[in-house]
Amino acid sequence: MWRGAVGRLLRGSGAGSPRAASGSAVAQLRRRLESELEDIRGAGTWKSERIISSRQGPHLRLEGGGAGILNFCANNYLGLSSHPEVIRASVEALEKFGAGLSSVRFICGTQSIHKDLEEKIARFHQREDAILYASCFDANAGIFEALLTPEDAVLSDELNHASIIDGIRLCKANKYRYKHMDMQDLEAKLQDAQKHRLRLVATDGAFSMDGDIAPLREICQLAQKYGALVFIDECHATGFLGPNGRGTDELLGVMDKVTIVNSTLGKALGGAAGGYTTGPKPLIDLLRQRSRPYLFSNSLPPAVVGCASKALDLLMESNAIAQSMAAKTQRFRSKMTAAGFTISGKDHPICPVMLGDARLAAVMAEDMLNRGIYVIGFSYPVVPKGKARIRVQISAVHSDEDIDRCVDAFTQVGRKHGALP
Ligand code: PLP
Repeated sequence: MWRGAVGRLLRGSGAGSPRAASGSAVAQLRRRLESELEDIRGAGTWKSERIISSRQGPHLRLEGGGAGILNFCANNYLGLSSHPEVIRASVEALEKFGAGLSSVRFICGTQSIHKDLEEKIARFHQREDAILYASCFDANAGIFEALLTPEDAVLSDELNHASIIDGIRLCKANKYRYKHMDMQDLEAKLQDAQKHRLRLVATDGAFSMDGDIAPLREICQLAQKYGALVFIDECHATGFLGPNGRGTDELLGVMDKVTIVNSTLGKALGGAAGGYTTGPKPLIDLLRQRSRPYLFSNSLPPAVVGCASKALDLLMESNAIAQSMAAKTQRFRSKMTAAGFTISGKDHPICPVMLGDARLAAVMAEDMLNRGIYVIGFSYPVVPKGKARIRVQISAVHSDEDIDRCVDAFTQVGRKHGALP
């Protein structure tokens, strides 16, 4: 009897045993998760994923949805995700340098291609040095904690990307949140922050929900007045904003005034994955010593490095791709405005078609897909209540006919659902 009880305990069976207890904990967890999932469905904010069975590009094949779907919702701004030279460079890097490093950078995860890409990124942005991460989410998660102490302050635009918000949460600096692109509010917060040792203003260069561009000239002027540094996240700008695609700082003529740039390799620069910080050499040196997502995560795979490296070569050879995207953006924005739609932002390939009502945005996006145009509706909590929209993203590889087909479909769907008279 005694032996039997001990045996049951060791095997974990029987009521009150550790395994039974853990079984009921799992059941409790399941109930909690199901109820949370139900809440998300009930709130109408469930995000379902469509399955693509072709390469990324302007024309897609969707599983169950047929071929020839026109894609207007990728961050593939320059169309480099499926560029033949980008793919070839990736295959070559894979063959020469292998599938991956099975190591973080500082143990045995640094290859010549990583150093070459970092040097190329710094040259592209005209900065002193650069450091690679597995993603820009990681670059944003790693910089604030490494750079700022409780003696310092960070001032962040309220609509900054989630990864900047999370990165700032991880650091112990004093935190100020200024109203979106509101320079009066930023100035008031900078005055308040004078008591701290170092001040860092952090902003998206281009904001992905509205396609609006941070007033970097004014931000840099305020930063100069109050002895602050400026950090920008250029995920929706690198490769295509500015005369040579260097980004928002080039567009607004403040490349020499912005100290730190974080950006992604996962959007315009080939679209594979990866992120980076570029800026002063001592900062990059410090990040290699202290930045946790860099220190404790695997090196970028060679195939991914190959893609990004070739994408940068193409952009440094010529600004023709970036210019062609700007012309397509202009075509879409002006035709949609003429058709009676309100497009938020200015001159950016993110073109939010403002609809207001969440249901209308969802129904119209669905109807657009029925007509072979893939766009996504965004509503609360991703954007403020009453500001639902369909976000259209233009790519250099859309043809004029693609753009016109999209505008025609919007016009028909808008009339059908009452968004247009
Ligand atoms: N910052 C901004 C503004 C973004 O839009 C994104 C991606 O959506 C990120 C950072 C994260 O970039 P990554 O996909 O390289 O992690």
